[in-house]
Amino acid sequence: MINVKECQNESVVCPHCEKTLGSIHAVKTKTNLGVRFIYACGFCRKVLGVSHRKGFWMG
Ligand SMILES: [Zn+2]
Repeated sequence: MINVKECQNESVVCPHCEKTLGSIHAVKTKTNLGVRFIYACGFCRKVLGVSHRKGFWMG
């Protein structure tokens, strides 16, 4: 399992456009396997990562 920590005071830089990410776009996508979130940079909109909702097999 991968744990995701929320960081409030750290500046995260997009690996694609190298801008400081003030906000990340989270796109909710429904698939056959459950609900997934695609995270994208707010500036260049390139995908930073994909994760699925915690306990998605419950519902
Ligand atoms: Zn970017």
